[in-house]
Amino acid sequence: MRDPDCLFCKIVAGELPAQIVAEDELTVAFMDINPATRGHALVVPRNHTPNVVEADPEDLFATIRGAQRLAQLATERLGCDGVNLLNSCGSAAWQTVFHLHFHVIPRYADDPLTLPWVPAPGEPDEIAAAADQLR
Ligand code: AMP
Ligand code: ZN
Repeated sequence: MRDPDCLFCKIVAGELPAQIVAEDELTVAFMDINPATRGHALVVPRNHTPNVVEADPEDLFATIRGAQRLAQLATERLGCDGVNLLNSCGSAAWQTVFHLHFHVIPRYADDPLTLPWVPAPGEPDEIAAAADQLR
């Protein structure tokens, strides 16, 4: 399963260069060319699927497991103080490459990243209404 126009399918197929750091039967992990922090990597399924909502569960689980392995490696070898796993699903959620991927972003106590929203208490009725829609 591949999309001939997809950047990450080309990386998976070895048709575009990438700093590959891990591979298994279902996934490939490689370094992000625009790293948010030192060691920022991406984990993708070999099969093309656009996002987390549409992914086959087996591909999704393998990709998440790959992200866990990379988070462990970043902790052991890069000495990071924490890790963010980030997935963007849809352009409204900042997705720019439409082949499922998880960002594995090592975090350092002194790095410049900040939370992209300002935590503030929500209206309890509105929280409950959203919860009702999700149940
Ligand atoms: P997103 O915006 O969540 O869809 O993430 C796409 C990520 O892919 C961005 O962080 C880009 O820096 C990264 N990216 C784009 N092209 C390449 C490439 N050729 N090799 C490695 N990473 C890439
Ligand atoms: Zn693809």
